[in-house]
Amino acid sequence: MAWNRRNFLGSFACFGLSLAAGRALAVTSCKPEERPCWGYHGGEGPDHWGRLHPDWAACAEGSEQSPIALPGGETVSADERFTLDYRATTGRLSDKTHTVQVDMSPGCQLVLGDRAFSLKQFHFHTPSEHLWSDAADVGELHLVHAADSGEIAVLGVALRPDAPQAFPESFWNWLQTAETGEALMLDPTDLVPGQDQFLGYRGSLTTPPCTEGVHWLLAMEPMAVGSVEQRWLEQQMGQNARPVQPLGSRTVHTVLREGS
Ligand SMILES: [Zn+2]
Repeated sequence: MAWNRRNFLGSFACFGLSLAAGRALAVTSCKPEERPCWGYHGGEGPDHWGRLHPDWAACAEGSEQSPIALPGGETVSADERFTLDYRATTGRLSDKTHTVQVDMSPGCQLVLGDRAFSLKQFHFHTPSEHLWSDAADVGELHLVHAADSGEIAVLGVALRPDAPQAFPESFWNWLQTAETGEALMLDPTDLVPGQDQFLGYRGSLTTPPCTEGVHWLLAMEPMAVGSVEQRWLEQQMGQNARPVQPLGSRTVHTVLREGS
């Protein structure tokens, strides 16, 4: 069974979404709670986010924004480590305007240094937001964590057709057929590559309000995405990748995942 297309398209009325086969949606409005409307095209696109709302000024004026083009081979080594304390818990498909998102019940943590961040949700971008060797991948998964202090840590995973490790088939089957609000028991460990090398840097949310101070952790190994799943994501979300932002004086460093 296909996604509930009518509800789905209704939730996407905020921005210009180009569907496959040359079909395009007329953009008329967005949800009242989501105003001002923002998106990825035209006057609501990334170049304008910083001017659409006073609280979104960081999108235009911030100096530590995300995503970035990841440097190749010139990363500085750093003694930063993290652990993923993930387990099977309930994920619920949420009705979001700009991405396919699954909200997670409490129980999964990312521990970075001495700080614990709780996994709140994960979502997708097509194509990838971060660039590896100046090239975009077909997609990117973001697992968003928050600490009690409000600090945010995002674990990013590139999606590439030829990667050795894939998401469980049962997960894709569920994602492509679930209605908004539907739940699934899943272990997010299955969504992250098993290897222990990551890159880290300080950045921002890649959507308004573009809040800075976000701890980014990017898996050096991608996860595989099949052509059917890739097409499905593109049809649901259109292109929802913010262009890369200047690295400025920031450094990108290696981060080791422990216990994997
Ligand atoms: Zn994201």
